[in-house]
Amino acid sequence: MRADKLLANTGFGTRKEVKKLLKQGALTVDGKKVTQASEQVDPDTQEIEVRGEPLEYREYIYLMMNKPKGLISATEDDLHETVVDILEFEDIVRKPFPVGRLDKDTEGLLLLTNDGKFAHALTSPKKGVPKTYMATIDEAVTIEDAEAFAEGVTLEDGYQTKSAVLHWNDDTPEEVTITIREGKYHQVKRMFEAVGKKVLELKRIQVGSIALDETLDSGEYRDMEEEEVTQLL
Ligand code: URA
Repeated sequence: MRADKLLANTGFGTRKEVKKLLKQGALTVDGKKVTQASEQVDPDTQEIEVRGEPLEYREYIYLMMNKPKGLISATEDDLHETVVDILEFEDIVRKPFPVGRLDKDTEGLLLLTNDGKFAHALTSPKKGVPKTYMATIDEAVTIEDAEAFAEGVTLEDGYQTKSAVLHWNDDTPEEVTITIREGKYHQVKRMFEAVGKKVLELKRIQVGSIALDETLDSGEYRDMEEEEVTQLL
């Protein structure tokens, strides 16, 4: 791949920034300086260093994003901006895709990867990985709602949901957290509809053992730590 692409894809800045780095002679390949952005380099077979440090090129990419409202959870869409469109780098080799889907108007924790096994481990219905959401409801939730969710409710298409856990603080009974172990289309919204209520706001805050990093502003993302990835596998 091109030298500028390699550096951009491994977190050394935008294409413009990495061009500057290359001009400064920061990149060596098999001991020789590479200053041309277009020069072809191969991280699999060549020894690559940036400012004297070996460059780690990982086959897989794992990102945690605080998804903003308004974006589609897809890699591309003809009409709307997607979660992949807001990534500041373009990685045509590793091509990250969203792990599962959040609705356009849902925000919060979204993982992106190019590791199909990782995505499968998190989304396969058989694994039942818990996902927790903060939801604002149009009216106070009740003990009966919590009991119904624990039992499983019947959605409008006849689907019987698995047991889900509802928590709230008595001072703010319209603000709840809900944990589900499956991911049917619009599941949380449809579960509340099944008990006659409407979800006004929805934010995912946890997937399995991974909580949304509170330091990520809406629209920001970061690489996942190695332990975060292995915890989920
Ligand atoms: N449930 C929903 O209704 N929407 C989401 O985006 C996620 C879960």
